[in-house]
Amino acid sequence: MPFCPRCLYEFVEGTKKCVDCNAKLVEHLPEEKMATVKWLFLDTLSDIVMANMVKEALENNGIETILKTDPLHSTFSLQTTGAIGSYARLFVPRGQKKAALDILKSMIETG
Ligand SMILES: [Zn+2]
Repeated sequence: MPFCPRCLYEFVEGTKKCVDCNAKLVEHLPEEKMATVKWLFLDTLSDIVMANMVKEALENNGIETILKTDPLHSTFSLQTTGAIGSYARLFVPRGQKKAALDILKSMIETG
């Protein structure tokens, strides 16, 4: 997975630049930097209502969450035609990503 060398965030495969600081993403962070990563990128949601529901569900399961909302990025608007306004990015603490993904997956599957 690509990482931002400045923010230390993890991004989805195929992402070339950090959407926060515009830095070129690197494939691997040096070990000493990995140890300092606190927040890991979980998912991008184009639906703010859904994003807030996921955040609430994760927090109900004892997983701290950071929800960052941003104006819709041009690269995202190409991928999600019809989406307007903004998108939300979810971050979870390192070590809880798998549990968070399981919750997210079960929420999406049950609608
Ligand atoms: Zn960055």
